[in-house]
Amino acid sequence: MIPDWAVERRRMVDTQLKRRGIRDPRVLAAMGDIPREDFVPIESRVSAYSDAPVNIGYHQTISQPYMTALMAECLELNGTERVLEIGAGSGYAAAVLGALAREVVTVEIVPELAALARSNLSRTGREANIRVIEGDGGLGYPPESPYDAISVAAAAPEVPAALMEQLRDPGYLTIPVGTLDDQQLRVIRKHAGRVQWRIATLCRFVPLRGGEGWN
Ligand code: SAH
Repeated sequence: MIPDWAVERRRMVDTQLKRRGIRDPRVLAAMGDIPREDFVPIESRVSAYSDAPVNIGYHQTISQPYMTALMAECLELNGTERVLEIGAGSGYAAAVLGALAREVVTVEIVPELAALARSNLSRTGREANIRVIEGDGGLGYPPESPYDAISVAAAAPEVPAALMEQLRDPGYLTIPVGTLDDQQLRVIRKHAGRVQWRIATLCRFVPLRGGEGWN
């Protein structure tokens, strides 16, 4: 039997997001609207709304819904921003960010996943304000910089310098920083010429590859 996706989605928003403290009504509305089942492989669709990451192939995952919500909420988007995402994966978080901001550039290092993200975003009618770029996101994407917000969906040993440079003042950057097994989700704020950061949660993301990550 095919699950009622709308029911599953509403339950996910209530039990995984609201109950854990996600408050931004725009984040809750976006995740209550976007068909996450269209961003997981067909054989994993029954797990589309489970409280965990799901494999999307190429040793990569679609993040746990709560993590996508938390990262988006920490960026404090109001709809006017240009956002850079590193690690498109299957495109789900880009779709969420696209619903919250003016435009999104998302960089993906695995060519097959860049293609998958592009096709998922166009199939769900979300490609108008989202561009998928194939490349090493550790270097950011200089042609469109600066960005009002940057969301990094893979864990790095340090915050890549190029990303700090491409972040506008004022602006927010979220990134998991730590070892391969344990990281802190850092929320970095550039404001009035200063940089401050806090830890939003402890986490475990797939590793950032390329020059700024692990190979
Ligand atoms: N944003 C996704 C999460 C994908 S997992 C979501 O919607 O849930 C992280 C992704 O980062 C993987 O697809 C991986 O291939 C990609 N990645 C890893 N290192 C990268 C790099 N240096 N540049 C761009 N993408 C990278």
